[in-house]
Amino acid sequence: MNSLMLNTDGVQIPQLGYGVWQVPADEAAQAVTTALKAGYRHVDTAAAYGNEEGVGQAVRESELPRRKLFVTTKLWNADHGRAEAAFDESLARLGLDYVDLFLIHWPVPQQDKYVQAWKAIEKIYRDGRAKAIGTSNFTIAHLTRLMNETDIVPSINQIELHPYLQQREMRAFHEANGILTEAWSPLGQGQGLLDDPALAKLSDKCGKTPAQIVLRWHLQLGHVAIPKSANPARIAENIGVFDFILDAEDMAAIGAMNRGQRIGPDPDTFD
Ligand code: NAD
Repeated sequence: MNSLMLNTDGVQIPQLGYGVWQVPADEAAQAVTTALKAGYRHVDTAAAYGNEEGVGQAVRESELPRRKLFVTTKLWNADHGRAEAAFDESLARLGLDYVDLFLIHWPVPQQDKYVQAWKAIEKIYRDGRAKAIGTSNFTIAHLTRLMNETDIVPSINQIELHPYLQQREMRAFHEANGILTEAWSPLGQGQGLLDDPALAKLSDKCGKTPAQIVLRWHLQLGHVAIPKSANPARIAENIGVFDFILDAEDMAAIGAMNRGQRIGPDPDTFD
């Protein structure tokens, strides 16, 4: 599994992770165990997903040493004013001593508490209970404010990113500031995107499925992607992306699919 270096000293993140949004609590342990057996070493959960217990159980019961696994969880919107307590609750649900990455899930600018939350998260990082810290769904304005008013630059910003929403401006801003881009809904949630004729053409050319073509595109752009599936065959399919290469023409064909089209909420208004 290819890993990328974070701006936090020595911390590396496996470039492909397993996302568990909408994986029911009582299926999460099994789903994560299936993913670990298939070769994933990075799991993306959140307090809001309601399945941290199952994720933690699979990590604890895995035969893999903890240091070989990368676990991300996120601070929910209602908890910006009590970030440290909410982090402790997440850690207790996971049953772990530390997480590899802790993110602010959404900026919720109308609440205006993300700077306060970040200062508490900086303390969690300094205490070593989160090996790296970052944001999710932050815009350039939110990140700029955070960098102006706090000490630590986020190591990652996890944003909606797929061929229909390519986020070029955000990616350039991240790169200029040493922030890694992480793609959520990397497959555009499946329907629609994966039926696009441009992907069918590349699928025929490369002998790979449309989902594999899209994930390979993410990897070659140099960011992290966290596809979700509850189906063991697709969990395995989505990690089978390290044995082929898209050429410049293929990358350009996917680059031309951008529609600037969000599936999820707008970070400026979502609460
Ligand atoms: P995704 O793009 O990963 O799509 C998942 C869906 O695509 C599946 O439910 C399935 O229907 C389909 N699919 C998966 N593999 C397939 C395959 N090989 N062939 C055909 N169809 C396939 O969307 P997602 O679940 O929204 O996002 C992935 C992860 O990103 C989440 O689980 C979560 O961890 C994270 N996420 C974060 C945020 C955030 O606000 N930070 C928001 C949404 C998702």
